[in-house]
Parts: sequence; structure tokens; C-alpha cells
Amino acid sequence: MNKNILITGGCGFIGSEAVRILVNKGYKVYNFDKLSYASCNESLSDLPNEMYNFFHGDIYNKKSISEYIKNVEPLFILNFAAESHVDRSIDGPDEFINTNIVGTFNILDASLKYFSTLSSDAKNFFKFVHISTDEVYGSLKSDANPFTEENNYNPNSPYSASKASSDFLVRAWGKTYGLPINITHSSNNYGPWQFPEKLIPLTVKNALSEKSIQIYGDGSNIRDWIHVTDNVEAIIQVMLNGRSGETYNIGAENELSNLEIVNLICDTLDRLKPKRDKKYSNLIKFVKDRPGHDMRYAININKIKSSLSWSPKISFNQGIEDSIKWMITNKNWLLSKSNQEGRIGLSKD
Ligand code: NAD
Repeated sequence: MNKNILITGGCGFIGSEAVRILVNKGYKVYNFDKLSYASCNESLSDLPNEMYNFFHGDIYNKKSISEYIKNVEPLFILNFAAESHVDRSIDGPDEFINTNIVGTFNILDASLKYFSTLSSDAKNFFKFVHISTDEVYGSLKSDANPFTEENNYNPNSPYSASKASSDFLVRAWGKTYGLPINITHSSNNYGPWQFPEKLIPLTVKNALSEKSIQIYGDGSNIRDWIHVTDNVEAIIQVMLNGRSGETYNIGAENELSNLEIVNLICDTLDRLKPKRDKKYSNLIKFVKDRPGHDMRYAININKIKSSLSWSPKISFNQGIEDSIKWMITNKNWLLSKSNQEGRIGLSKD
């Protein structure tokens, strides 16, 4: 049996980490990506041709994704492709509906047709893994327990509503048609190659270019942070060993407020790249909150820990220090990525 893995959105922040790790583990990876503004395909330029294939395509185009699946004959399909930025979903939800909902439907439909052609042996191995977010659960009160897989869905933004819709489609294709599926809900990811519209790279980018570091509201919104490598290792565990039909939460039990994160980044930059005259935190500016801004996300990871023996390996202190060092070293890449005109993008995804 082949070890082909088809990844959609493999030129994005998390998908590209998955491509690199899977190629390193000896899988042949086929990446279907439309190369949106958020892509970091330069991060994949040194992968060996015999292990890595790129196809420039859009999951909104059903014929294109169907033909690619048929040609690749994958053992696993990992669906990372998405529009992923909350602020953009508020200003222009259309793309989120097209890619996150219709695009997911297109891949499911094509996957089911492909699955029906497999031998019973191959059917036992095949898996469709849908990469989703903790944001589908909505906002947590400060004293509430972290989200488990049993929590109800309560999405509040067009982004999280589109991800929730796609989760329901994936679930239905498992329940109704017997497609072997898993869904993962991860918390906020951080690490190298993240497009600088998300909190951590945007803060570093603005600090390094001496622009104001804008924080929504009073900065008390809490997010739960996981290093992208830990998330990808967890997704691979789910792909290989997750029970068909199950959903798994993925996090690293690191709850921090946006203000704490920004202060930590400023302190780290003061140490690693000191400025003679002033501290980076002088650039912090509080701005009007965005509508529907969820107050807190936190993820309970007991299920994946106990059933798949996975746990996060990278401590937040080490991971954030290494990520900031990477952004300093790759300052040119960071500065070359332009955020939407003058917008304030202090959000997760
Ligand atoms: P990203 O925005 O960095 O990358 C998305 C990738 O998908 C890009 O390369 C883009 O070109 C591609 N893409 C977008 N629309 C497409 C389409 N129609 N057809 C083909 N390719 C398309 O996103 P990310 O941060 O890597 O997130 C990946 C997945 O993980 C998303 O589904 C997101 O919802 C989920 N997620 C992200 C986070 C996070 O903190 N970044 C947390 C939880 C879940």
C-alpha cells in the first residue's frame, strides 16, 4: 500500500509544518493549495521532488480537487485549507463561506467517491482528517472549565461559524456515508512562518519596524497557546491512531491574556534586540475592541492524552523564545508580508 498523503492548504502556517514533518517521517506528500495571501510556500522550497508534489488549486473548484484526489490515490487526506483570520471574516465573509464550507463539502464529496473505489484492505487504513479550531465552542467565562469534546458549539464570528459548519459536514459524511473521519480542535498556534496578521508575528513585526503595537480593548482576552510542531505531531497521531468518527481537542494548557503575550514579546525583544533609547512596550496602544470578540478560549486535552498517548513537548517559554529569535533572523520575510491596509489584526485566527 502506498504512503501518499494529500494535504490541502499545505502552504499555510500549520499545513507547511505538517508537510515538512511528514516528508521527514518518510511519507510522500501531495499539497493542494491556492496560494492565498497567507501562504508561505517559500518554506517548502528545499523539499526533495521525489517526496513532495505541489498542485496549485482551489478546493472551491470541485472538479479540480476531485481529479487531484483520484490521481494521487492518497492513504490519508488532511484538510488544512481555510480562510483563517477572524478580522477578515468580519469585513468579507464570502471567501470564508466559499472555502471553509463549500470547499470542505467539495473535498468530502470527492473523498467519498474515491473511498468507494478502494479495496477493503485500503478502506481499513484510509482516513479523512479535518483540521478545525477551538473557536467553534465560543467564548468561555473566566471561571469556566476548559472546553472538552462534549461542549456544545457556540460560534460567534463568521470565521468560527464557517469552521463549525464544516465540522458538521465532516461529521455527517462520517455518520451518514461511513467515510472514516476525524476532526481536531486546536487552540492558538504559534511558531515560524505565521503570516503577520496574527497576534504574535504582527507584534514582533510592528515592534521591529517601530510601529505602534495595537491591542484590542484592554488586552484581557485570554487564548490558550500551542507550538505549531506540537499541534502537527498531535494531528499525525490522530491520523494514524484516532478512532474513526472521533473528535480530538489539541492544546498545551498555556492560557495567557493578549496583554501578557505582548508584554512578553516586548521584554524578549528588549533582551535580544535592545534599542538604545526606549523599551518596545512604549509602542503599545489600546484600540477599540472588535465586535463579537470572544473573551476566553481554553482547551481540555485529557482525551488525546489518555487515548492516543500524545502530550505537548515544547514549553511555552522555550517555544516563544525560539519563535521570536526566528522572526528576528527572518525579519526580511516578516516585513515583506504586508497586512491588509492599516488594519489592526490582533486576533488568533
Ligand atoms: P493559514 O491562513 O496560514 O493557511 C491557509 C492555507 O490554505 C494557505 O496556504 C491558503 O493558500 C490555503 N487555502 C485557502 N483557501 C484555499 C482554497 N480555497 N483552496 C486551496 N487552498 C486554500 O492557516 P493556518 O493558520 O495554517 O490554519 C490551518 C488550519 O488550521 C485552518 O483550517 C484553521 O482554521 C485551523 N486552525 C488554525 C489555528 C491557528 O492558530 N492558526 C488554530 C486552530 C485551528
